[in-house]
Amino acid sequence: MHYMIMNKTAEKIVHNFNAGPSILPQEVFEEASRALLDFNGTGLSILEIGHRTKLFQSVVDEAVSLVKELMQLDDSHEVLFLHGGASTQFFQVPMNLLNEDARAAYTDTGVWAAKAIKEAKLYGNVDVVCSSREDGYTYLPKSFSVDTSSAYLHITTNNTIYGTQWQDLSLFYDKGLPLVADMSSDILSRQLDFNRFDLIYAGAQKNIGAAGVNVVVINKSCLGKVKKTIPTMMDYRNHIEAGSLLNTPPVFAIYVCLLTLRWLQKKGGVIAAEKRNDKKVDLLYDTIDRLPLFRGTVAKEDRSKMNVCFVMEDPSLESGFVGLCEEEGMIGIKGHRTVGGFRVSLYNALPYESVVALTGLMNYFAQKQG
Ligand code: PMP
Repeated sequence: MHYMIMNKTAEKIVHNFNAGPSILPQEVFEEASRALLDFNGTGLSILEIGHRTKLFQSVVDEAVSLVKELMQLDDSHEVLFLHGGASTQFFQVPMNLLNEDARAAYTDTGVWAAKAIKEAKLYGNVDVVCSSREDGYTYLPKSFSVDTSSAYLHITTNNTIYGTQWQDLSLFYDKGLPLVADMSSDILSRQLDFNRFDLIYAGAQKNIGAAGVNVVVINKSCLGKVKKTIPTMMDYRNHIEAGSLLNTPPVFAIYVCLLTLRWLQKKGGVIAAEKRNDKKVDLLYDTIDRLPLFRGTVAKEDRSKMNVCFVMEDPSLESGFVGLCEEEGMIGIKGHRTVGGFRVSLYNALPYESVVALTGLMNYFAQKQG
């Protein structure tokens, strides 16, 4: 009855809907496994090559140029691979862009946005220009005004926990101040004018590769404007100058990014990824909306195409549905512990067949309830 796909090993059938770390393309797993034993026929593992060798330099160079190509970045934008997860960017951004006596504008659209606000407050003044916190972050607040003398405007393009995503980013363009975006959970999943952003950051572990590295895109013109002394490892300018090799970088994580970026490029880049993602997400939301048993939890116009959140009208049925999903090898569908219900993540590497399998089970479960 259900479509099944093989993931990683022939012995186990898994549909991986994890929110992150999450599914990567099968060929990335295979290539990365080979490189653990013998990297590019060198007889060395990727784990034992020096980060200052030509071998690794070519990994970084190709990864940087693929990000530039996939995002169609202009020459004023630099691409960095940095440690520390997106949470480090929550404070590295204000450290580099915000003076103590200045103000920064933040949108408060979810748990991660709120964490970014908390960290920025350690470095200067924060204006929360809009918030849906009081309503459980179930929609995106679109009416706001920004003081153009603010150091920058910070947004979270996709709210991983609540399942909302800004669909029209032009709302934030041309505001007369630098635009900073946390794109951790939707980077490279849809076409955007990435040059409109002065700083983009994303933990790699959803759409780009393995945990342990961030991709950071910076328009150089917004740097060098703060008065304070920035610790060496926190100053973006030092990383730009050193080409992401200021100290020992997360070599393997960057390599997995390279493999994932190559895969994305080979599959037609961001335009093709968006088409594949739309097909997956349309099937899932159509199923949720068609079956009275299920209900989406956020405003329809703000629904995320990466993290689909829903509940069952009768919560007592939820554990039965989860059990059935587990039997069928579906993992990662439980909602975040703060929200409950279900969250199904549909990152770039998730095959359409996995969504067909899940919606097949939803239909089957609904029929069984009569
Ligand atoms: N921002 C967003 C939108 C996220 O989804 C996450 C993690 N899920 C983070 C930031 C934090 O990322 P990390 O765990 O890499 O610090």
